[in-house]
Amino acid sequence: MGDTGIPVPLWAERVADGLGEGPHVVVTGISPSGNIHNLREVLVAEAVADALRTRGEEVRLVFHADTIDPLRKVAPGVPESFEEFFGQSLSRVPDPEGCHASYAEHFLVPFEEALYEMGMDIEVLRSHELYEGGVYTDVTREAIEHTDELRNILQEASGRRMPGHWSPYLPRRTSGQLTGARVLEHLPEQHSVVFADEDGFEEEADYSKGEGKLGWRVELAARWKALGVTFEPFGKDHTSRGGSTDTADRMAREVFHYPIPGRYEYEWISIKGQGAMSSSKGIVLLPKDLLRIMPPDALRRMMLGRDPARALDLDLGEGFPRFMDEFNAETGRSEVPFNHLALVSQTVGKDVDAAATMLRRGGYEEAAREPERLARDLSYARNWASDWAPESMRIGLLDPEESRQVAAGLDEEQREYLADLSAKLGPEMDGDGIQNLLYSTAVGRGLKPKRAFAAVYKVLLGKTSGPKAGPFVAGLPPEDVRQRFSA
Ligand SMILES: [Zn+2]
Repeated sequence: MGDTGIPVPLWAERVADGLGEGPHVVVTGISPSGNIHNLREVLVAEAVADALRTRGEEVRLVFHADTIDPLRKVAPGVPESFEEFFGQSLSRVPDPEGCHASYAEHFLVPFEEALYEMGMDIEVLRSHELYEGGVYTDVTREAIEHTDELRNILQEASGRRMPGHWSPYLPRRTSGQLTGARVLEHLPEQHSVVFADEDGFEEEADYSKGEGKLGWRVELAARWKALGVTFEPFGKDHTSRGGSTDTADRMAREVFHYPIPGRYEYEWISIKGQGAMSSSKGIVLLPKDLLRIMPPDALRRMMLGRDPARALDLDLGEGFPRFMDEFNAETGRSEVPFNHLALVSQTVGKDVDAAATMLRRGGYEEAAREPERLARDLSYARNWASDWAPESMRIGLLDPEESRQVAAGLDEEQREYLADLSAKLGPEMDGDGIQNLLYSTAVGRGLKPKRAFAAVYKVLLGKTSGPKAGPFVAGLPPEDVRQRFSA
């Protein structure tokens, strides 16, 4: 078992085995330029950190939020007028909704909160604070001193000539923009650069105070050295030939003289029926929304899949109850089928005592015993039913008057079947007993089970099908069921 309470997955153990002696710094970095959905990357990092900790290593797990990165695109839902902030650090662009200190915080904070809600042992670092605090000062000096080598690496990787005035460092202009400046001179003693903006006006930027940043490809390698990174996962877009890891690897080796950190390449997650997750396309699942329908460890299990090197198509609709049942079986967490819980939660609302009674009558004694956990599980099931469940799973018990009207509309065979059941139902019967009774009574009367069960579902739920009938009927007050069936 690792820190997360679920066993360390085999793939993570293998990755950890491939890493040398610690102490280790496991890093994952994301730009808060829109809704942050890339939980898979953070979970890969966490699983590897966890595997290292299990091995007895000292591990620092870091989420590097790229808050100093310039705004390049307006995120879905943000007014077009934000184009006026293009080129400015996300940490200095206003919050589009006015609820946080900046654009970066607006998207970062909900993600950060979800990580803590999951009980993750992780440090969230904001890159603008790292630059302002001098963490990047030495690597920035090194980068500027090796401008020619860095330019060569980029030219060879891209096959394109870089402009002669190219610099690894982007000083911030008076306008706030990180682009369009021409670095003229390096003053290492004052850790600053002299630069000219587009009008030729000369200014100075102190790189020990966050008055600019490294270009992102250089920053990747520089970050490894500045933070002492020993492992970082990457999505496949970064690891393609000529991609950012290609150039960063060479920069680390040839310029920064820093060993290339261990790596794991993960595949994308798509949402069934919608496509690959993408914040710019607005196809996202936010961790906080997912935590509404399942506990943190189930979310870990879901996002990582069997092996995060494989693509994953998430089914949060019809397929979700099966996922939860598998998760519960693997972890010995609960014996109640998720579909049944969804039904109970929709039948009793937020009344935990009533839910416990229903579960006990349905034969799920164990689940009824811990009210706090039951309350949580019921809210997961209820939220799933309202947010994701297919129409067939959105159910509620009809009120007695509706039941009577529906019963009157059934054919005679079905009505007689229900009346027969009404006489036979005993208060001591459990879910299995009632399931057997529903079936044997139908067979005994020469009524096709499908039509028989349809009558039961109709009178209780107003639908012709539903979850397993025995435990559901067993969960309802017997007198109430008898009245509905004898109507
Ligand atoms: Zn906000």
